[in-house]
Amino acid sequence: MQNKEIRFASRPSGMPTLENFLIQDAAMPQPQEGEVLLRTRYISVDPYLRGRMREGKSYIAPFEVGQVIVSGAVGEVLESKDPGFKAGDTVVSGALPWSLYATAKGATLQKINPSLAPVSTALGVLGMPGLTGYFGLLDIGQPKPGETVVVSGAAGAVGMVVCQIAKLKGCRAVGIAGGEDKTAYLLNELGVDAAINYKTAEGYKSVNELRKELSAACPKGVDIYFDNVGGDISDAVMPLIAPGARIAICGQISVYNLEQADVGLRPQPYLLVNSALMKGFIITQYMSQFGKGIAEMAQWLAEGKLKNAETVVEGFENTPLAFIGLFKGENLGKQIVKI
Ligand code: NAP
Repeated sequence: MQNKEIRFASRPSGMPTLENFLIQDAAMPQPQEGEVLLRTRYISVDPYLRGRMREGKSYIAPFEVGQVIVSGAVGEVLESKDPGFKAGDTVVSGALPWSLYATAKGATLQKINPSLAPVSTALGVLGMPGLTGYFGLLDIGQPKPGETVVVSGAAGAVGMVVCQIAKLKGCRAVGIAGGEDKTAYLLNELGVDAAINYKTAEGYKSVNELRKELSAACPKGVDIYFDNVGGDISDAVMPLIAPGARIAICGQISVYNLEQADVGLRPQPYLLVNSALMKGFIITQYMSQFGKGIAEMAQWLAEGKLKNAETVVEGFENTPLAFIGLFKGENLGKQIVKI
C-alpha cells in the first residue's frame, strides 16, 4: 500500500492555482492506542479552505505552508486501536488530512450508518453544509409561512438546502445562481418560485439589472436574505429588504480571492429604516444541536421532501482541481472528491 498526500505548497494570490498544492508519496501511518487507520473514501472541498490559505487572524488558524491540507472527509476503518470502532466501519470527520491513508483518534470521528443514506451525504446535505443551511435559515432567518426568502449561491451545497427548507416552511423561495443549468435545476427540481441567473454570456449582470429582476421576483420585498456570496449580489438585494427583514451572513465567496477589501453599497441605511437584523454565523456554534438537525434532515431526505445533488470528481490527484472549481461555479450541489 503506497500512501499519498497533498501539501499546501504556497499561499495563493487571487484565484488558487495547481501550483499552490504539492502531491507526493508519503509514509504509511501507524495507528497508536485510541486511534484508527483509515482509507480515505471521499474528500470534501469547501470554500472556507481558501480563508485558511491566507495569513492572518480568523475564526480558524491558517494553514502553514508545507503542511498537509486538512478538511472534512469520509473514511473506512482498516484497523482499530479504539474499542469504539472496528474494521469496516465508515466514519466522517471535519478534519482529516488530504491523504489516501490516515490515522485519527477515535474521539474525533463519527460513525456513519450506510443504510441511512449514501455515505458521501455526511459531507454535504447530512453534514456541515446541510447543517449550515438548516441552522442559518431556521435560527437567524426564523422563516414564517408566506414570507419571501432570497438565497444567493442557491445551487450550491448550502444554498440548495436553504431553498428547500424555505419551501418546507411555506415561504416563497427565490434562488440566485450562475448559469441557466443551475436556475433550471432550482426551478424544476427544487421547486423554488423564481430563480435568477446573475451571469450573462459575456460576464455578469449589472447590480441594477439584477435588482430589477429580483424586484419582479419579490413583489412584497425580501423578508429573509440568506447570503452565501456577498459583493454585487448583496448590493442588488439590500434595497429590497422588507420591514423586519432578517439577513443571515453565511458566506462571502465573491470576495475570498480578492487581495483588497471589497467596497460596495453600505447596508446600514436599509437595516435602519426596516428595523432589520443582519447576523453572521459560523456553523460550529450550533454543534450541540447537530444531532437534531441531522435527524430532521435525514427524515426529510427519506421522505423525499429534501433532494440532494452532488458533483463528484474522481481521483485523489484531482482534489486541488475540484477545490479550484468551487470558485468557477463548476459544482451543482455539494462538491466532493471520490478516492
Ligand atoms: P457551494 O455553494 O457548493 O460552492 C461554491 C459556489 O459559489 C459555486 O458553485 C458558485 O456558484 C458560487 N461562486 C463562486 N464564486 C463566486 C463569485 N465570485 N460570485 C458569486 N458566486 C460565486 O459552496 P458551499 O460549501 O455551499 O458554501 C457556500 C457559502 O457558504 C460559501 O461562501 C461558504 O464559505 C459559506 N459557508 C459558511 C459556513 C458557515 O459556517 N458560516 C459553512 C459552510 C459554508 P454559481 O455558479 O452560482 O456562481
